[in-house]
Amino acid sequence: MSVVASSPWRRTTRRRRSLPAAARIRSHHVHGWRARRWGCAALAVALAAAGCDRVIDRQIERGLTARADRSVPEAPGIHVVLCGTGSPLPDKDRAGACTAVLAGGEFLLVDVGPGSWETATLAGLPTGDLSAILLTHFHSDHIGDLGEAITQSWIAGRTHPLDVYGPPGTTRVVNGFDEAYAADESYRNIHHGETYMPAAAAPAVGHDVELTDAADSDAVVFDRNGLRVTMFRVHHDPVRPAVGYRFDYGGRSVVVSGDTAKSASVTKHAAGADLLIHEALQPELMKRVATVADRVGQQRLAKMARDTLGYHTSPVEAAEVARDAGVATLVFTHEVPGPNNFITRRLFLAGVSGVYTGTVVLGEDGMRFDLPPKS
Ligand SMILES: [Zn+2]
Ligand SMILES: [Zn+2]
Repeated sequence: MSVVASSPWRRTTRRRRSLPAAARIRSHHVHGWRARRWGCAALAVALAAAGCDRVIDRQIERGLTARADRSVPEAPGIHVVLCGTGSPLPDKDRAGACTAVLAGGEFLLVDVGPGSWETATLAGLPTGDLSAILLTHFHSDHIGDLGEAITQSWIAGRTHPLDVYGPPGTTRVVNGFDEAYAADESYRNIHHGETYMPAAAAPAVGHDVELTDAADSDAVVFDRNGLRVTMFRVHHDPVRPAVGYRFDYGGRSVVVSGDTAKSASVTKHAAGADLLIHEALQPELMKRVATVADRVGQQRLAKMARDTLGYHTSPVEAAEVARDAGVATLVFTHEVPGPNNFITRRLFLAGVSGVYTGTVVLGEDGMRFDLPPKS
């Protein structure tokens, strides 16, 4: 397996505001996305120097051809892209929860947290070819961009209503987003015409998947072109039900835990997986956040920080799950708090290598993992 975190993906990540000013300008100029003013200024200078339309055309062409890489879903094997490794905590480097899985010509997203749709688009994912969305639960950091995903995938060329699978309650959530975006969809249908923006393809369709009450219950929710997706129950009380997903394709397997406390169901369903993408909350760091918040008079934040401790998994616990499941590679996502500097990265991984000897990756937005099929 190869782990690719190529620089274009990193540079296109929307939250690179910590770059030095000069690098920031250059980065935004290259992608012409976030800071159009800088792009326009650079373009004006280039035009003045070159004095011809070819400069403009080349800029436009570069922008258009860079956005969607349709070869990815057609390539053999499973491909995973982290389109959101953040949490409800504000983080300039990480979008809300989102994991893209591409295999057999299918393109699925697990959760679409705030900012993740833009991250997925800037990462070059084929947004118009989105097959379906899988929701793990309905916390806002997992569904905040659902409206964007529905509408923007239609704008990008989706020709069928978008299927959204999840636990009971999914249909209600999806219908709400459909309703909120109905006016937008009618404007675009009228403006661009039925051929380009067919009204029937615009909305999403929710699918409530019932699981039994057993703590490790599961159900196959998607099985097409050799890609089988199994939903399984996890433990995120008082959020019930909350689920994770296992993807099997070409003898390879990828598991996304969803939000969960340490769960035997994740261990069971991750058995033998090539890649386990597991949420993690560093409890010692969060306790310190709570203590400091108390000291500076932010009791509300302190209370919430303490409340989160019980329904997430520590990095060491996630490593135990990976070890017990016999997983080859453990990727942390939904990292709380975001390990964004040398010190927090060290603290986040403290003790992990003591229980798990496989490959460990601190997930970052834009990372991509390619798993070729087993022959
Ligand atoms: Zn949650
Ligand atoms: Zn969450």
